[in-house]
Formats: sequence, structure tokens, C-alpha cells
Amino acid sequence: MSNPGTADQPLRVAVVGSGPAGFFTAQHLLAKPDLVVTVDLYERLPTPFGLVRFGVAPDHEEIKRVTRQFDKVAAKPGFRFFGNVDVGSDVTLDELARHYHIICFTTGAETDRRMGIPGEDLARSHAATEFVAWFNGHPEYRDRQFDLSVERVAVVGVGNVAVDVARILSRTVEELSTTDIADHALEALRQSRVKEVYMLGRRGPAQAAFTNPEVKELGELAGADIQVLEDELELDPLSRADVEQADDRKLNKKLEILRDLAAQQPAGKPRTLAIRFLVSPVELVGNEAGQVEGLRIVRNRLIADESGRLRPEATDHTEILPVGLVFRSVGYHGVPLPGLPFDDWHGVVPNDRGRVLASPDAPMPGVYVSGWIKRGPTGVIGTNKKDAAETVEAMLEDLAAGALPSPTDPEPAAVEAFVRQRQPDALTYADWQRIDEMETTRGEAEGRPRVKFTSKDEIMAALSSEEHDR
Ligand code: FAD
Ligand code: NAP
Repeated sequence: MSNPGTADQPLRVAVVGSGPAGFFTAQHLLAKPDLVVTVDLYERLPTPFGLVRFGVAPDHEEIKRVTRQFDKVAAKPGFRFFGNVDVGSDVTLDELARHYHIICFTTGAETDRRMGIPGEDLARSHAATEFVAWFNGHPEYRDRQFDLSVERVAVVGVGNVAVDVARILSRTVEELSTTDIADHALEALRQSRVKEVYMLGRRGPAQAAFTNPEVKELGELAGADIQVLEDELELDPLSRADVEQADDRKLNKKLEILRDLAAQQPAGKPRTLAIRFLVSPVELVGNEAGQVEGLRIVRNRLIADESGRLRPEATDHTEILPVGLVFRSVGYHGVPLPGLPFDDWHGVVPNDRGRVLASPDAPMPGVYVSGWIKRGPTGVIGTNKKDAAETVEAMLEDLAAGALPSPTDPEPAAVEAFVRQRQPDALTYADWQRIDEMETTRGEAEGRPRVKFTSKDEIMAALSSEEHDR
């Protein structure tokens, strides 16, 4: 039998997860000129876009414009969306394999990394992942509680997520109230008594993971003065040698931005956002009620490991930051998927350029990954486009080599019937467009880009009442 990908025998692809990696995978496949292909995109939540909706900060609306590109993908013939369908519980990998030649998992990295220090499970100690999902209106996090009655907060880590968390805690209500932040978060932040926010980097300024526009923005907040200690910006001899040798324009710019921030005089704004370097948390200190009341931190120096990478080594100088709330923002971590191998250490599905590997030299025919579940939780939205291209290339090589399995029931109508039988609340892209319109209409009334629905029940009720009115 000939290879699929023709009008007689279209290539049937399922993509699981509708974040950037899922949409870019679909985009690359649907753009191949000589390939007749259909792509069904499965999403366990009612709404598409993954971290573009539930990660990207509400005050960075312009970043979310990438969804217009995703809308164009969704408008292509051969594309279908199945929202509200969890692959693993509503339908399984084996069941999908009856309908598709290719199944590609783009499920992201849903959980957080831990610091592994005493006190991490005290009340008022949280993962940044939870806080971010909560303020962005993720349905599974809307009921979380964060005690914003404290005056001082520590955010551990100096990556871009830590910057987002620190910035949202430092914004004024006026700044936040023109964004699409979830209503429950806007209300809680309105009552916030937070006055000081500390971001803690375990290495020095030359190793900070945040990017230049993001850190620069921290010096431009309406309601918070920035504080960077001059002496913590002083490069140690190893970092100085690295910086000189790298001669990296962006890195030099980052150091310049940090020096400018250190030179800013406090303007008496109601809050202070401090960035500290070369300090590691060693213990969260609790009060009698089992709540965080301090964070013991140790001063570090940098040493080179065998590969020459500079890593922190604790000195014997410790101090206690009197903070009442701690967010660890030390990275995301993937979760295992039923039926797939998993590398627990790296939090990814083992793969070779996107081909899932059951063992080092045994690919699982027809099963692929792209995005954060493939390479780990790093990179911006655009990084996933290149990453998806690599996976699609592997798919097409396997197609040409006749190495794809043959599904027993590839007809699109059969899949639709099967999915709807398993999940009667499965939503289409047209349903999402109606939700989108309702959210933006609600936003217009308040001068905001949208007012999000934050639960599946709200979404299902809104869709059915709108249907009723039509
Ligand atoms: P995700 O975006 O996480 O998408 C995965 C999708 O899979 C989700 O929708 C999830 O619900 C779905 N899923 C999971 N399991 C299943 C299942 N079993 N069945 C069906 N569906 C499932 N990048 C920028 O360029 N600019 C930014 O401003 C920016 N801000 C960020 C802010 C935060 C807090 C974070 C964490 C990241 C940010 N990034 C930003 C990075 C960017 O969001 C990621 O690079 C990108 O989202 C990763 O894409 P992904 O598709 O692999 O994963
Ligand atoms: P990240 O960039 O990997 O940063 C993680 C931070 O945690 C680093 O500062 C790291 O320090 C620190 N860390 C790790 N373990 C630690 C520990 N045990 N103790 C103290 N500190 C520790 O991850 P992220 O911030 O979660 O971001 C994920 C990705 O999304 C990144 O690629 C990011 O650029 C992207 N993103 C982009 C934007 C944007 O473009 N605006 C916004 C948000 C996220 P070390 O360097 O020392 O390991």
C-alpha cells in the first residue's frame, strides 16, 4: 500500500495540547504543499493556547497577539479543535492510535520544581506556577488563596517568571485594572498590603536568567521603586573573565541596565522591588501557626565546575529576610503521560528530534513530541516554532520511509463520534471563538482587553445561554 498523505489517503494527525508547540506543529504540517493532511488538536481545558493564555503576564498584552497566527492555522481546511478533552483520561493513546497515523504530544510542563529545603511546605510558601495560573484565571487554580496581607514577599529565582511574579505584586491596581488579569486576582491584589518584594538570584548579575526588556521594565513601575545593591553588581574575577571572553552584546547590555537600576534614586513610591544576587535560600522559618515568617538566606560565591560553568557555593554568611510569603520560581517541570516513557529527572518524554523513544534505540512508531514536553521548560513562544519544525521533519522522514503505523479507523467522522461519546462537552474552535467574543465584549465595558471566564461551568453556561438567545 502507498504511503498516506494523498487525496485518496490523507495523513491523519492528532496533536495533544494547544499551546504554542501544538499550534506550530499543526501550522508546519498544514503548510506542506504536497501533503494532504488533517490535524485534530486536543486540549484538556475548554480554551486553547496553553501558557499564552495562562502563563504570559496580563500586563504583557502585546505578546498574546501571537494567537492571531493561531487563529489562521485554525481556519485552514483540515484543522479541527477538540477542547475539554483530556488525552489519558477521556481518551487514551491506544484509542487514538486506531484513528491516526501520527500522534504528537505538546503537553508542556505543568508542574513546578522544588527547592528541597526545610520549611518549603509551610503555609504561605507557594510555587510561582500556582500564583501565575491563579492570576491568569486558570480553571484549576481559581480557588487558590495567597495571603497578601503580609508586607514583605520573597520570590526565589531571577528568571523571567520570577520577574513576572515580582512585577505583578508591585503593580498598582490602576495598572492592573486595564489588563485581562482574572477578576478574583484583581480583587485580591486590590487588598494587598505588600510593601517590599525581593527577587533572589543564587548566582551573580552576569548569570541572571531574565532578559533585558523584562528587567528594564522593573525600573519603570508606577508604584514601586527599584533597588539593586551596587556591591552585589560587582563582578567576581571568574564572572569578569567570562563576560570579557564572551563579548556578548546582550549580556553587556544587561549589566548596563542593572547598573542603571542601581543608580536610580528612590522616588518615595509606596512599594520597593529589590533584586538581590549571590544569595540562596536555605530554610523557610515558620511561626507557631505554621506560616512562613522569614527566609534564611546564605551568601554565595561562584566557583567553576568541571565544565567551566560557574555555580554557587555557600559561604558561612547567613541572614534572615523577614518575609511572610515566599514564591519559588525555580523552573517548571513536565508531568508523565499515560502510555508514554518519561525522564523524571529532566521532566521530559525521551525523544530523538521529536521521535518518542521507548528505549534509547527503539522509537515508538507514529508517536512524537514537541515544545516543553520535548526539550524542557525553557525558551520563549517563538522557540517552539523551530522546535516544532524539527519534529515535523522527523514525521515526514518516517512517512517517506514507510515507517508510520496504519490506523484501523482513520475517517474524521468516526473520530468525532468516538470523542463525543467519551466527552459530550467537547468544544470546537467555533465554540472558542464565541467564548473569545463574549470575553472581549465583557472587557470592552471595563476598558480591558477581555474579562476571562475562569471555570468550565461558566463557559458551558455562557455557551448554552448564548445559543438560547440566538
Ligand atoms: P504550553 O503552552 O504549556 O501548552 C501545553 C498545552 O497542553 C496546555 O494548553 C495544556 O492544557 C495542554 N495539555 C496538557 N496535558 C494535556 C492532556 N493530557 N490532554 C490534552 N491537553 C493537554 N514566552 C514569551 O515569548 N513571552 C512571554 O511573555 C512568556 N511568558 C511566559 C510566562 C510564564 C509564566 C511561563 C511559564 C512561560 C512564558 N513564556 C513566554 C514561555 C512560553 O509560554 C512557552 O515557551 C510556551 O508556552 C511552551 O509551549 P508548549 O506548547 O510546549 O506548552
Ligand atoms: P528559568 O529562566 O530557567 O529561570 C529559573 C531561575 O531559577 C534561574 O534564575 C535559576 O538560577 C533559578 N533557580 C533554579 N534552581 C534554584 C534553586 N534551587 N535555588 C535558587 N534559584 C534557583 O525559568 P523560568 O523563569 O521558569 O522561565 C521559563 C522559560 O519561560 C524561560 O525560557 C523564560 O525566558 C520564558 N519566559 C519568558 C518570558 C518573557 O519573554 N517575558 C516570561 C516568562 C517566561 P540558575 O541560573 O542559577 O540556575
